[in-house]
Amino acid sequence: MIIAANWKMNPSLDIAGGLVSALNANSFQPVKLILFVPHPFLMPISAHLGKSNIRLGGQDCHQEAGGAHTGDVAAEMLKDCGASIVLLGHSERRKNHGEKSEQIASKARQALAQGLDIMICVGETLSERQAGRAEQIVIDQLRTSVPNHTPQGQLMIAYEPVWAIGTGKVPSLLEIAKMHSAIAGELNKLYSGKIVGSVPILYGGSVNRKNAASILSLNNVDGGLIGGASLDSEAFGSICDVARAQMSKSELNP
Ligand code: PEP
Repeated sequence: MIIAANWKMNPSLDIAGGLVSALNANSFQPVKLILFVPHPFLMPISAHLGKSNIRLGGQDCHQEAGGAHTGDVAAEMLKDCGASIVLLGHSERRKNHGEKSEQIASKARQALAQGLDIMICVGETLSERQAGRAEQIVIDQLRTSVPNHTPQGQLMIAYEPVWAIGTGKVPSLLEIAKMHSAIAGELNKLYSGKIVGSVPILYGGSVNRKNAASILSLNNVDGGLIGGASLDSEAFGSICDVARAQMSKSELNP
């Protein structure tokens, strides 16, 4: 079970330090935690995390190794600043920066070349879901955004329905389960049926302490990508506790 925080363009460095102190004070093991933090915070948060096994990630990287790209960040720079993973293709990048799946795949190749793991986001808009095209959109995004031959151990997928992000709206449990099963099936095809271990598939979109237990208990849901609730240490801690409880339940009833 993986619980990842997407802080987006939040919070102040002061508040971020407080969030990290609260997380460092708790052991949510065996739940794996990842913090996707604003790029200027990578170094101070990395220092604050110290020897903690909470992983640090960037929220984007450029597809090229370096060069004349004002305002962009290279994958190697993320690594130099303490990141071991990068979030790619978040719907806010797709929408606000016009990122297409092909470009996301190029970014992913660059990140992998620098030894970073990648978490690739996929998800449909409300109109796509209402038109009955949700699964087709998500599977197309998956096929086009994940580079060929991505080592399985370096890949995670986050299913994030665009209409559920930051809105308080969440798909039904059946809808989430169906989409995660479709993603798992497609990953199986991408790897010609040779999935060793598994590529984690996280759900993201208005996860909170109340709905976390039912979402995290679904088949093929290997964790959550948490936006708004990750900025509240108590709410985020509660979601991590739910994930830990879910892991001990699955151990008792494999
Ligand atoms: C996100 O943006 O990745 C996200 C899941 O946001 P929220 O939890 O606020 O819906």
